[in-house]
Amino acid sequence: MELRRRGAALMSAGPLLLGGIEAGGTKFLCAVADQNGHSLAEVRIPTTTAADTLGAASAFFAEAQLEFGRIDALSIGSFGPLSLNPVAPDHGCITSTPKAGWQDIDLLRHFRATLDVPMTLDTDVNCAAVGEHLFGSGMGLDTFCYVTIGTGIGVGLLIGGAPHGGANHPEAGHIRLPRAPGDVDFAGICPFHGDCIEGLASGPAMSARWGVVGERLPTDHPGWEMEVDYIAGLCATLTYVVRPDRIILGGGVMAAPDMHDRVRRALRTKLAGYDASLRSVDMTDYVAVPTAGASAGLTGALALAYRTTMRQWPAHWTMSSSGPRASASLETIHA
Ligand code: ZN
Repeated sequence: MELRRRGAALMSAGPLLLGGIEAGGTKFLCAVADQNGHSLAEVRIPTTTAADTLGAASAFFAEAQLEFGRIDALSIGSFGPLSLNPVAPDHGCITSTPKAGWQDIDLLRHFRATLDVPMTLDTDVNCAAVGEHLFGSGMGLDTFCYVTIGTGIGVGLLIGGAPHGGANHPEAGHIRLPRAPGDVDFAGICPFHGDCIEGLASGPAMSARWGVVGERLPTDHPGWEMEVDYIAGLCATLTYVVRPDRIILGGGVMAAPDMHDRVRRALRTKLAGYDASLRSVDMTDYVAVPTAGASAGLTGALALAYRTTMRQWPAHWTMSSSGPRASASLETIHA
């Protein structure tokens, strides 16, 4: 495997070397960066079998260490569910994922076998929230929610300036909400709960419900009103539980026309005038579009690696052209 090198960044490699992985259901993005967040090498690995995908990822970091020196910390932002409690016997594992062949895969143990450095593991959505915190719609905010509505529904939380986890990570995408008006027959597709919000309102749920993917539903189709109702219901729940400064809504479903404005209006209605501090919220500001770009998750993972070592966020990083990217031009290594 030949590393994809990032030109001038090679000349300015500092004493700190960071590894980051955005581990997704369709691709793994891996990067090595210096202490300024400048990417030195990146690779995109299609997610196939766990053995092949993880093997290619660890080979990338092994070669990067030969090229650039010892990596100081590695952070992984992964699809889940994950076991994140350090005292749990399965800590570091992907646990009950419906993704075939990836149940009970121990991510941390795999990478520790070849990379003896401090490691952190968090959810893909928490890492994306960190990316938004540094460079996007979460800038300057200590407490906000990052929600992605796509192949699943995931919620990342920054609370008090840190990614939130307790006994394990929250699973707000599996909350059950009151049925939207007119939604009476559809059983939902969540293999665990049926009609939780992911089971009713994720992209695959839309496809199962209407027989076509969401992108092909006309903008005036009643399916969109249901979708807006469920997403606004999730936002109302997050508002009452977390009381964030902002809720950032991303993912493929939110790319449909006018979705953010429709959710803002529906959320205002659902909150029903409760609490003066909520009545005065500017919904345009409160419900936001993600702006940190497609590489927010990978950037967030690298920032978590930095924080593991330096005990603070890399406030000096800038979202420049030299930062990590998740662009289509990224070299693909076929596992
Ligand atoms: Zn569920």
